Amino acid sequence: MLVLLSALLWCFNQLVCDNAPCSAEWTPVFIVMEEIILRKMQEIIGWGESEADGIFSPGGSISNLYSVLVARYKRYPEIKTKGMAAIPDIILFVSEHSHYSVKKAAAVLGIGMDNVIVVKCDERGKMIPSELEENIIQVKKQGKVPFYVSATAGTTVYGAFDPLVHIADICEKYNLWMHVDAAWGGGLLLSRRHSHKLSGIERANSVTWNPHKLMGVPLQCSAFLVREKGLLQACNQLCAGYLFQPDKQYDTAYDTGDKAIQCGRHVDVFKLWLMWRAKGTRGFETLINRFLELAEYLYKELKTRKNYELVFDAEPELTNVCFWYIPPSLQKIPKGPEREKRLHQVAPKIKARMIEEGTTMVSYQPHGNHVNFFRMVFSNPATKKSDVDFLLEEIERLGKDL
Ligand SMILES: *Cc1c(COP(=O)(O)O)cnc(C)c1O
Repeated sequence: MLVLLSALLWCFNQLVCDNAPCSAEWTPVFIVMEEIILRKMQEIIGWGESEADGIFSPGGSISNLYSVLVARYKRYPEIKTKGMAAIPDIILFVSEHSHYSVKKAAAVLGIGMDNVIVVKCDERGKMIPSELEENIIQVKKQGKVPFYVSATAGTTVYGAFDPLVHIADICEKYNLWMHVDAAWGGGLLLSRRHSHKLSGIERANSVTWNPHKLMGVPLQCSAFLVREKGLLQACNQLCAGYLFQPDKQYDTAYDTGDKAIQCGRHVDVFKLWLMWRAKGTRGFETLINRFLELAEYLYKELKTRKNYELVFDAEPELTNVCFWYIPPSLQKIPKGPEREKRLHQVAPKIKARMIEEGTTMVSYQPHGNHVNFFRMVFSNPATKKSDVDFLLEEIERLGKDL
């Protein structure tokens, strides 16, 4: 135990001394860790070192909520004291494939779900920029104020990346806050092979990035990152006298607690800091590249097997692979409503059998006008190609009599 502790302290000293001037003064350790990791993530996004800001939050949904909160405060600082009655009708834009948490944030923050416009996506699940622009123009005509766009970098179901550069151009043109929800896909920034899929993210005003997804950090671990320094503090601080005394014995710049909407906070950064220290950025890269290779392998396997159909036929951009299993009885039925109706029941039945047998698990869902399909995602370092083969054979074994 002692050995472990001293090893930890040694590591910590190394890291702090690598990144900041060492001083004999006492500093709150976890806050320093949080600052170091947030700075690293900001650099990876492509923001200048000094100006950006951020905080660890209890999940991507809360990080997305922070983004709406901060964007609204930036435009209308009076919101903090006067509330929604003091500001005009503000409109948020998301895409058909965006995560539901942005809509939920609009409900929680009193903006209202009706004031969230859902922009159309292409077949691959990417937001169509011309649709976004048309919607913005429409909203302005109605006398409302478009103010925020959430683009998704790695959609939850399809693993699609919105065209961030195009969206950034539109946000600049109409002076809108650009948020990038990279809760799922943010990890790709650590891969030199795949990071180009997020190009344009450096133009975002704020970013959600969940290390508890692609980077394999245990729940919960999500970062909310914001390009403008000081905004989070101004938006959320209340300066509670019993916590944030200005005359403490240490530098009160370390008192980052008032940036949060919470009071007590979990030290979520600690496990990420340890993992980063142990694996290094290159370690994460190797892991993430391997997940992508597994997804490509599954995609290619599905194309060769006649009992399977892909939801969209394109190389996976993230680790999501979406597909149907077509039991022999359905293969005789021509494509149409009857076949769709029966196909809709296949995935839930196979999943139920999987749970009963305890052999493997894969999620399923309907999406848009697609009936229930399987969605495989890779984010477990123990997964091998043989597991992918097993999954396909197991689905077949459990579903061939349906
Ligand atoms: C998972 C996910 C979220 C929500 O993250 P939680 O940590 O589960 O709250 C938000 N956005 C996207 C794109 C996601 O995939």
